[in-house]
Amino acid sequence: MKRKKRLGEKVIKQVSKDFGLTVTDAVIVKNLDKKLGVPYDWFDEASYICGKEVTLGRYKDDSVRLASFFHEVGHIIGPQVNTEGIVRHTKKGVVGLGKYKFLIEKDAWDKGIALAKKYDVVFSQAAMDFMEQCLDKALQYQG
Ligand SMILES: [Zn+2]
Repeated sequence: MKRKKRLGEKVIKQVSKDFGLTVTDAVIVKNLDKKLGVPYDWFDEASYICGKEVTLGRYKDDSVRLASFFHEVGHIIGPQVNTEGIVRHTKKGVVGLGKYKFLIEKDAWDKGIALAKKYDVVFSQAAMDFMEQCLDKALQYQG
């Protein structure tokens, strides 16, 4: 069965190449949750990074998925968040950023948007709404 081409796949590949990133996609890799020993819903509308490894979650909207990818790259090119370089985005918020959660999240979105522009990608309205929700959560769960 041939998989439908998803929005932004080409640019995700290009950015990964340019930044030397490894991207794992929860949609493509079967049983990723079991492989990593994490709950299935970890990848619902959430992604995370570890060093230069990006794990992309399952998103209903491909434009949100693409924006999330750029956000993750924003973390990688942004200030180091902790010694392990792990940022996990969960339904409840962000794990692994300590007290600067909101500032680091905002910085990663800003850098992600700026980087996306360089690749001729403009965030959709859905992506902007998603970003707003993420920043709200970062503020809410800060501490
Ligand atoms: Zn983030």
